Amino acid sequence: MLHHERLRPPPHDYPADEWNVIEKGFHPEFLAQLETGLALGNGYLGMRGCPEEGGPNAENATLINGFYETWPIVYAEDAYGFAKTGQTICNVTDSKIIKLFVDDEPFWLPDANLLSYDRRLNMKSGTLDREILWETPAGKQVSIRSRRLVSFENRHVAAISYCVTLLNSKAFIVLSSEMATDKPSGRIKGDDPRLAKAFSGRVLHPRANYCKGRRIVLCHVTEKSRLTVTGATDHALETLCPHTDKAVSSDDFGKIAFTIEARPGCPIQLTKYITYHTSKTASAEELCGRAEWTLDRVRAQGFQQLLTSQEQYMDDFWRRSDVRIRDVREDRTNRSTVEIQQAIRFNLFHMLQASARAEDAGVPAKGLTGKAYEGHYFWDTEIYLLPFLTYTSPRIARNLLTFRYKMLPHARARAKQLGHRGAMFPWRTISGEEASAYYAAGTAQYHINADIMYALRKYVQATGDEPFLRDYGAEMLVETARLWLSLGFYSEAKGGKFCINGVTGPDEYKAVVNNNAYTNLMARENLRYAAQTVKSLQSTEPNAYNALVHKTALETSEVEKWIRAAENMYVPYDADLQIVLQDDSFLDREPWDFRNTPPEHYPLLLFYHPLNIYRKQVIKQADVILAMFLLGDLFSPEAKKRNFCFYDPLTTGDSSLSSCVEAIIAAQIGDMEKAFRYGMAALLMDLADVGGNVKDGCHIASMGGTWMMLTYGFGGMRDNDGTLSFWPRRAPEESATLRFPVTYRGQRLEIEIGLEKVEYALCEGECLVIRHETEEVQLSRQNPVAVRPVSRRIAMR
Ligand code: BGC
Repeated sequence: MLHHERLRPPPHDYPADEWNVIEKGFHPEFLAQLETGLALGNGYLGMRGCPEEGGPNAENATLINGFYETWPIVYAEDAYGFAKTGQTICNVTDSKIIKLFVDDEPFWLPDANLLSYDRRLNMKSGTLDREILWETPAGKQVSIRSRRLVSFENRHVAAISYCVTLLNSKAFIVLSSEMATDKPSGRIKGDDPRLAKAFSGRVLHPRANYCKGRRIVLCHVTEKSRLTVTGATDHALETLCPHTDKAVSSDDFGKIAFTIEARPGCPIQLTKYITYHTSKTASAEELCGRAEWTLDRVRAQGFQQLLTSQEQYMDDFWRRSDVRIRDVREDRTNRSTVEIQQAIRFNLFHMLQASARAEDAGVPAKGLTGKAYEGHYFWDTEIYLLPFLTYTSPRIARNLLTFRYKMLPHARARAKQLGHRGAMFPWRTISGEEASAYYAAGTAQYHINADIMYALRKYVQATGDEPFLRDYGAEMLVETARLWLSLGFYSEAKGGKFCINGVTGPDEYKAVVNNNAYTNLMARENLRYAAQTVKSLQSTEPNAYNALVHKTALETSEVEKWIRAAENMYVPYDADLQIVLQDDSFLDREPWDFRNTPPEHYPLLLFYHPLNIYRKQVIKQADVILAMFLLGDLFSPEAKKRNFCFYDPLTTGDSSLSSCVEAIIAAQIGDMEKAFRYGMAALLMDLADVGGNVKDGCHIASMGGTWMMLTYGFGGMRDNDGTLSFWPRRAPEESATLRFPVTYRGQRLEIEIGLEKVEYALCEGECLVIRHETEEVQLSRQNPVAVRPVSRRIAMR
């Protein structure tokens, strides 16, 4: 169901372009969306796409992944085991400000007479570029060209190149390069539960500030979480115009002002180098020292060197990850193909920005583009983002799984607190502790444990990284299998089957239900994979097995119990409708009155009390439909069709995690019209602001979902049984081809789905065996294989 399609691009000049997201005029009404869309980041450091001049800003933010403040969650009615400590990502010092004054007139975008304006997110070079021609009220024409980057290579580094040239007359110019810490905004959170908490008091307390030549250093520590951050900047000014400079710093502010006697045609090139270092343990002094080393190094290298390394990183990323769609009709520029390509790359690029250098951290639901969802890590990472990373950047996938492994002590403690065995991962967190203040749609989502193990299995199968499974994965498997065993029970009422009651599935419009099918099916996989892994270690790697037994106090009898629970897992089913039931009582509920729900009442969560929603047949996001995708082998095509036809009309898509999955199943069952509609909604979720909340940050899960939609959905990729096969459909556009790379077991394969044939080419590696539908295909480096396509040609529209 698509209630709130908002696919129209803004009525302004945002021309489609394959490699850039372009803004051709300054439009204050799109300020907030563009701050998100044009944000830069590297998984460690993120800067929203605000202008250098210190404003105007909708919500200015410079964020560091995992840098957060804590606060006591106060419940008017408390209960045992409720999460006690809130965690909220918080702004660090804003270092990107460069104010420009011409003859003392400030350059301020909303008031400026702009003779030309071009700002673009350049996805090929990984930069935010801007070119402006401004005429001052006194008629002086000023060219301003800037380029900003957040480095992938040096995760602590960002830099801005800012070049001003007077065109028609001389003037005094001041460039004031500043750093400023956030003043508590006091922004009211309002009723939207998705937004971040605003702090009313000071969060960052000053620890050090100083200037050294053209360098400014500010260090702060958070009030409660006691995390330290040092932000520091350094500057290089190149110009033939005479100039002086003066630097000052105080607790929360630092600036260096360059005063220049500018001549027409004589460029003034300012380069600002920025660095951040954060730590739980290091002292302020230590962090200031680290920041200075970084600045020494990058200043010596210069901006060009940073840019070159950024471009190389991007080249490598696109080689491994680019999904290309090409219109085969010659001599025709198919605008919609260009738009689709732009949206695809935009999504891929933001996933890179969210995850590339997320080391010892997770990936926040919004990446580092906004503070909504408080900078928390959810199942979004494992179910929606990790497949993309596993098949394009396996090292990053490994880092993220390692981060989950490091959470095990917290997860063990949480399981104990709730009276379970094993480990229980938090529904939402930064620190590893549960941070959800609403247990019904938080802690009760036990499925996150199975989701993490699902991602682990996919990662191990696709990479062959058995050492990871042995050294880290196995321990997580043992502890999560234990959790399921202690959570469920053999129910007499259900014929002695293994049931799991009192959980919330992915669909947050049903809470604390019995036998959520998704949860039970995924738990079954978790139990089976745990048993299989332990058994295989026992027979092939006795030392590793003994170490595992030592670490987890594993008893041999446990494994048999996991197998028994898995084999007896209860999956609710309705024999009349021949569908899997989302949960035991799904059909007992009264249907939701869709006919009388006005379109502006979506998402329902903002307009109806949860109780009104919980007791009705209405679904927030793909639940059974998601299980049919993740565990595709368990459902025949007919079963997929039946379940999809039943659940799809009840699914509001109020979560952005929905349309991508609906598109995949629609494609798999041959409903290409729906596949296309849902696919476009997913693809344009952020670029065209389909959900209307892009201002608060990108939807990283949906972005990951678009990659799955293109590869698993249209590309027909399957990996459920541990081998790689393709049942291609066609590109999500008539007369277009779809091409994408997949890294599998250290080799890189490119798949091109044409109108007449499908081609498989091995671009890295020596030989690989895959399957095209049911046929085995042997690939070697020299021999691309073309097969006649797509047996079922299904019209798209
Ligand atoms: C969805 C969750 C998701 C969270 C963060 C919620 O609206 O229902 O499934 O994990 O957003 O993206």
